[in-house]
Amino acid sequence: MADLTPPAFAAPAPRDLCTDCGVSRMADAKRCGRACQFIAPDYPALENATHGRARDPAKGDEAHFGPYRAMHRARLRAPAPGAQWTGITTRLAQRLLETGAVDGVLCMAPDPADRWRPVPVIVTDPADMARVRGMRMGYAPLLALLEPARDRGLKRLALIGIPCQVYALRALERELGFDRLYVIGTPCSDNTTTEAFHEFLALLSNRPETISYLEFRADYHVELRFDDGRRQEIPFLRLPISQLKPDFFPLTCRTCVDYTNVLADITVGYMGGQGDQWLLVRNDRGAEMLALLGDEVVLDTPGSAGKRAGAVKGFIDNVARAAGGLPLRRMPDWLRGVMGWIMPRFGPRGLEFARTRVEMKAAETVLHLRRERRARMKTMIPSHIWALVAPYGLTPQPGETLAPQDARTPDEIAPDETAPAKGNRTAPGGVSPPM
Ligand SMILES: Cc1cc2nc3c(=O)[nH]c(=O)nc-3n(C[C@H](O)[C@H](O)[C@H](O)COP(=O)(O)OP(=O)(O)OC[C@H]3O[C@@H](n4cnc5c(N)ncnc54)[C@H](O)[C@@H]3O)c2cc1C
Ligand code: SF4
Ligand code: SF4
Repeated sequence: MADLTPPAFAAPAPRDLCTDCGVSRMADAKRCGRACQFIAPDYPALENATHGRARDPAKGDEAHFGPYRAMHRARLRAPAPGAQWTGITTRLAQRLLETGAVDGVLCMAPDPADRWRPVPVIVTDPADMARVRGMRMGYAPLLALLEPARDRGLKRLALIGIPCQVYALRALERELGFDRLYVIGTPCSDNTTTEAFHEFLALLSNRPETISYLEFRADYHVELRFDDGRRQEIPFLRLPISQLKPDFFPLTCRTCVDYTNVLADITVGYMGGQGDQWLLVRNDRGAEMLALLGDEVVLDTPGSAGKRAGAVKGFIDNVARAAGGLPLRRMPDWLRGVMGWIMPRFGPRGLEFARTRVEMKAAETVLHLRRERRARMKTMIPSHIWALVAPYGLTPQPGETLAPQDARTPDEIAPDETAPAKGNRTAPGGVSPPM
């Protein structure tokens, strides 16, 4: 078993809207200006560079999920112990190490002192991938390991990351000088700091320290597991969301613009999986990785049922009320019970559930930025987000998109435009329940 303790990182540079992906801790912290998803992302250019083409909204579900070659419902035939779902993510990286395709894998391990806190590590022994299985809540500077990995002579690398990390990685990929890079992405939404997440756990159990697993499932339930083997399922509508502090979900995570990790070679999630995992193979490298699993993985065609429009519209109305400082419309308790029964049976399911979530997140981006960082909207919101929310009457107001003559490349944005570091803390009126 190797020692996975990461090197001491440089302190992060102060930035407004920042999930500390690690770039500001690299030798040249000014790279944030051209690498950051929260400054002036250019998805079409990076999709082109990564996949050979940008998303084609007329093709399949690309308007919602970004470019892909194949989409599957999937599970490992033998689920891996300790995995968040069945462990496809870590098994892909383990196969890359086993076959010698890569020299190392950058990913998040649990902090030995707090299993919910992510710690960036470089894994070189395939057996050690078992130690990083499972989901942690929070951020940690994964990309700050790129320079130490290069200094250790690791030339071919894999990285498992969430979308804000993968965007920055892709933006810098060409200047990093690795011979080969494999990117396994997971979707991500509603992240928060590890500290805040502990407060949430404390609302769910009187012994929160014994909660070993939590997942927001696609059947509208949160699943909890405990150290003694007990399991509990809580309908989303019964979650104590109203008891969370207003800034529980940081502004970054209410306004990021890529739910499904469109710049990964392969995305491994669960949203479109109807109880299984959900794979989006985006390019040749993604297909190469999936092939490494052979018949360890069971693949199926994703299903889709229900209609999303009503659920998305209700969500938008609620977020708009909260973002405008008005109280939320709360469901009476008896109706919560009824809806908790109806949603898994008749609400959006499978791919329609995934489309629902992607549209909700796009609407949150527009409404929360409009309220809290209006000046950022014109550079931060890509056109694919506007297209997703247009059917609900959310369209750009004057000044919210770039006039062609105002367009700037990320290189033209001064680093101090991303400071001061005040922004990822305040979030009045934020509500972002999973559904
Ligand atoms: C904060 C967060 C929110 C998510 N939200 C969604 C969602 O809304 N919809 C959806 O379909 N999927 C979401 N996912 C992904 C999902 O939870 C599973 O991780 C994914 O489906 C892979 O399951 P697995 O069994 O293959 O993973 P495993 O094989 O168990 O591997 C999990 C991998 O995730 C990495 N990881 C764990 N925590 C973090 C972290 N905080 N930051 C970066 N990497 C981490 C680990 O390094 C490990 O490599 C989210 C993940 C995170 C971290
Ligand atoms: S999230 Fe953005 S601002 Fe923060 S370190 Fe990463 S690139 Fe820099
Ligand atoms: S929700 Fe978005 S900004 Fe927040 S951690 Fe996930 S990808 Fe990053």
